Amino acid sequence: MKQFQYVRPATQQGVLDVINKPGTKIIAGGTNLVDLMKRGVTAPDKLVDINQLPLKTIAATKTGLHIGALALNSVVSENAVVADKHPLLAMALKAGASPQLRNMATVGGNMMQRTRCGYFYDVTMPCNKRAPGTGCGAIEGINRMHAIFGASPQCIAVHPSDMCVALAALDATVIVAGKKGERRLPFTEFHRLPGDHPELDNHLAKDELITGVEIPDNNFAKNSYYLKIRDRQSYAFALVSVAAALDIENGTIKDARLAMGGVAHKPWRLFDAEKSLIGKKATEENFEHAAQLAMRGAKGYGNNSFKLKLAPATIAEALKHAAGLV
Ligand code: SF4
Repeated sequence: MKQFQYVRPATQQGVLDVINKPGTKIIAGGTNLVDLMKRGVTAPDKLVDINQLPLKTIAATKTGLHIGALALNSVVSENAVVADKHPLLAMALKAGASPQLRNMATVGGNMMQRTRCGYFYDVTMPCNKRAPGTGCGAIEGINRMHAIFGASPQCIAVHPSDMCVALAALDATVIVAGKKGERRLPFTEFHRLPGDHPELDNHLAKDELITGVEIPDNNFAKNSYYLKIRDRQSYAFALVSVAAALDIENGTIKDARLAMGGVAHKPWRLFDAEKSLIGKKATEENFEHAAQLAMRGAKGYGNNSFKLKLAPATIAEALKHAAGLV
């Protein structure tokens, strides 16, 4: 591994003063970054450890719940307010990684983690995300884990997070700090599709730091479910996952939120399927109809074409669980 400098600023300003320099990376839990450095996928000159910043708070606000960027995945998943108000988030967090990793991984780091495409991690292979212009090994190669939505001829990778799928479904807001002050952006607009620049995973500027996320109050706590389909029951990334949240009154759906993981370069929100459910009865038939709507525009690349059947089945099943039908 290349030698690097390590600094640990005590203040947010101290972090903002140094993160914009070329070759600089932020480290918190390091559960992804250290792997990337060991494999030579990334080789920073300087690591800026942000663990001294006071960003671990989980607190109710007037309009929702604020979760600091340094709150550990394990702590958030066990927090009483999260369990009570946003069980979907707790379920998604517990479906991710392993207990040991959740004890190190932070909310901000979870958002910033990079794809687990095998070609991205193998520095002997072509990969437009790791080395722009070298090609994409996965499009004609082994692509069982890859995207069926929103891909480009440059990259068909997926974002690997479970937590982010729940936060996208719950209409969370990302709060970032920069030299010009604070900026807030919808969670669904934080991550990018690959387009012509797959090397960029999100819309965070180089001089910005994620400080937290906020989840607005909602009526989904009673009827929500995170369903993750994977090759083994623990410590595996999603083939397909679905975050489903329903607001049901007397058997009728007043509001719905749906997002998928393991299918796109970002958490994939299913807006049309959500709309189709509003005002309808919470029945298996309506859930299956919504699942079919959600698949418009899906495309398989060979090894991953099984997801074209797995995804709608997972959506319908997650909705049944959320509605208490199973
Ligand atoms: Fe690289 Fe993306 Fe292609 Fe994977 S899918 S090899 S990350 S360009």
